Amino acid sequence: MRLDKVLEVEKIGSKRKVKTLIRSKQVRVDGQIVMDESLNVDAALQEIYVGDKKIQQESHVYYMLNKPQGVVTAVKDTRHQTVIDLISQSDQRTGLYPIGRLDRDTEGLLLITDNGQLGYQLLLPHKKVSKRYEVRVNAMLTTNDCNVFAEGIIFSDGTTCKPATLTILASENNESHVYLDITEGKFHQVKKMFLSVGKKVIYLKRLSMGPIQLDPTLEIGAYRPLNQEELQELL
Ligand code: URA
Repeated sequence: MRLDKVLEVEKIGSKRKVKTLIRSKQVRVDGQIVMDESLNVDAALQEIYVGDKKIQQESHVYYMLNKPQGVVTAVKDTRHQTVIDLISQSDQRTGLYPIGRLDRDTEGLLLITDNGQLGYQLLLPHKKVSKRYEVRVNAMLTTNDCNVFAEGIIFSDGTTCKPATLTILASENNESHVYLDITEGKFHQVKKMFLSVGKKVIYLKRLSMGPIQLDPTLEIGAYRPLNQEELQELL
């Protein structure tokens, strides 16, 4: 990961403060002063000092799960299998939790971590983290529906949604297959958006969240750790 990113993640200071520290020769990597904030470092293997403070990177785990239908997005549940139950014993950690929530009948990308700060950051409404869903609905959708979604759907209780992008992949035999890109995470948001235009969601799968795309080789119910590139995008 870039040196400035490591220092930011480790809460040394803002991007600007970190840059100033590096430029003023206060940061050493393996004993050498480094003045290039873009230097790639591995905080788990290299010794990084800011002044006389050693940076000890917290080790967290980050998993990408392809959530199956029928499993609840919770840490514990008395009646149903949870997404945390899908993580094998050897990969379990204290404090493991899902970032955000998918309905029991929704499939697809769910990030699971023991880094509480990350979930908090990703779910902040003002961060407007984008999410792409693959959706099948029981009706024909047209460009008129795309326009309505682009203007901002209003729920029956008056709640307004931010503009969303509806991309029609196929619309035939009274069924439509679409992508929906949204930047919010209201409760049952996708289902409610389609209900607002009189359509029912019959299949829902999350394909991406922020910079992370669901790995198409990940079988339903399987998970894997995020790789270095994905972590760099995320943190
Ligand atoms: N919107 C929904 O309606 N359900 C989900 O599971 C996710 C987004």
